[in-house]
Amino acid sequence: MQNRAIIITGAAMGLGLATAELLAAKQAKLVLVDYNAEALQAAKTKILAKSPSAELLLIPTDVSDEEAVQSYVEKTVEHFGRIDGLYNNAGIEGKQAPLTEYDIDVFKRVIDINLMGVYYGMKYVIPVMKKQNYGKIVNVASVGGIRGVVNQTAYVASKHAVSGMTKNAAIEYGEYGILTNAIAPGAILTPMVEEAFKQVNPDDPKSAEQEYAQRNPTKKLGQPTDVANVVAFLLSEDNGYVSGQTIAIDGGESNLYGN
Ligand code: NAD
Repeated sequence: MQNRAIIITGAAMGLGLATAELLAAKQAKLVLVDYNAEALQAAKTKILAKSPSAELLLIPTDVSDEEAVQSYVEKTVEHFGRIDGLYNNAGIEGKQAPLTEYDIDVFKRVIDINLMGVYYGMKYVIPVMKKQNYGKIVNVASVGGIRGVVNQTAYVASKHAVSGMTKNAAIEYGEYGILTNAIAPGAILTPMVEEAFKQVNPDDPKSAEQEYAQRNPTKKLGQPTDVANVVAFLLSEDNGYVSGQTIAIDGGESNLYGN
């Protein structure tokens, strides 16, 4: 990863931050994109505490805004001269509700960020990678991108779309040296998942978490570093021939029928 220029969206916390910390330790040059400017600054401090010489460019951006995405891509090229990797990670869960009762504004916001944000990222990064004849893209889907999840219609729709767009990018741009994959994390303990357990059991989110963990074959939730290690491989030169895949990182849970 040394000196590779990698863009990470949703870099301020959770899965984005864990990957940023790992890639900084591997001496990649990082562009950190997030719409939470304050949390982005805090993330920078955390990364530099572990990797003091890390090269970081912070760009506060809402990935659902097409012009803003175009701008973060242009700024990256101005600053680092190239784009070797895109970790298209920013996403939201939305609110949990049955399909017929789902708030339509929340539904559209989930699609705007999770689907369109990922699409805009690829739309503007791929032409840069094409010119280089090199690039690695990792889009963040979810187990909700390979199966249904009760009360999360908008999220499931958006993440299935991410998996589908990943297949298309892989087949349309493979000949330009661009490998595109998606990851499908299960329940990984990040601020987003902590918030989901609060929605499931507002009085005792910890017990909701423990109950959920018992359903997993490993009897535990995943950690952000479990995801970061897989993403680092997919974004690296070690990945020479994996493309168009949606890779579950879920302790095997998506293979389980009934529990
Ligand atoms: P998180 O909420 O902990 O972090 C997400 C980050 O993305 C935040 O810093 C937030 O500010 C940023 N973000 C959200 N919307 C944005 C936007 N429009 N523009 C720019 N930044 C934005 O979430 P996480 O758990 O780290 O999730 C990261 C990704 O992984 C998401 O796409 C999520 O759907 C996916 N995912 C997470 C899990 C899990 O268990 N944590 C499981 C499956 C998929």
